[in-house]
Amino acid sequence: MGSRELKKNVERARRRAYYESLSPEEKKEYRARIIREKKLKKLKRMAFGSAALLVLMLVGFIGVLAGRGESEEVYNPDQGVQAEGGETQAAPASAPADAVPDWVVENLIRVNRYSRPGTPLEQVNGIVIHYTGNPGTTAEQNRSYFDGLADMGETSASSHFVIGIDGTVIQCVPLDEIAYASNERNADTISIECCHSDETGKFSEETYDSLVRLVKWLEEAYNLEPEDVIRHYDVTGKECPLYYVENPEAWEQFLKDIAL
Ligand SMILES: [Zn+2]
Repeated sequence: MGSRELKKNVERARRRAYYESLSPEEKKEYRARIIREKKLKKLKRMAFGSAALLVLMLVGFIGVLAGRGESEEVYNPDQGVQAEGGETQAAPASAPADAVPDWVVENLIRVNRYSRPGTPLEQVNGIVIHYTGNPGTTAEQNRSYFDGLADMGETSASSHFVIGIDGTVIQCVPLDEIAYASNERNADTISIECCHSDETGKFSEETYDSLVRLVKWLEEAYNLEPEDVIRHYDVTGKECPLYYVENPEAWEQFLKDIAL
């Protein structure tokens, strides 16, 4: 028997002797006090446990935020690649409640972890405008690229809508699911990729008109204001959409054009 254990036993015997010396009334009081003390200890333990859990959750949450921040868009002109990282989840919820207008071609890409994770888009606080960074490509080609990521599985990228040089609007991802386009704003925005014919990134008249039309419809559908419509540049500082970053007055004009 170690000395610590010996001490414990002596202490226990002393307490027992003390307890035996008490009157029945005092014994009752003594037992009640012991129970109170035990309850208090248990409460303290629980409080400590909850606090620790809270700290763990907070650390996890910050980790998720940091992870989102890191997933940068990568553009590779040779492949026409716009890559966005992000976590994936299970299959999507139901179809969007509000149907898109009939001038939007609904051609959804497959549910897959690289471009359509099926993660619910629970709130829409803004619209983010992009350019494909791949001159001369069509809306259909960009949509196919996003869909093809399911097989290639190298990078993550997608967009809710792609607008072609001819003004065609293709919807690739349902409005109640997130797309991988706007980094840390993927979780609360709708994204629009615009095709362009040359390196300047300037939108054709047709693209521009379709963009204005689509953004106006989204503003109404989600009760948004022109100031909720932002460039990818405003999220990450990336030069996207290039022409409207290099020519701020063109962007200002766009914001005027989408005022309801
Ligand atoms: Zn972009």
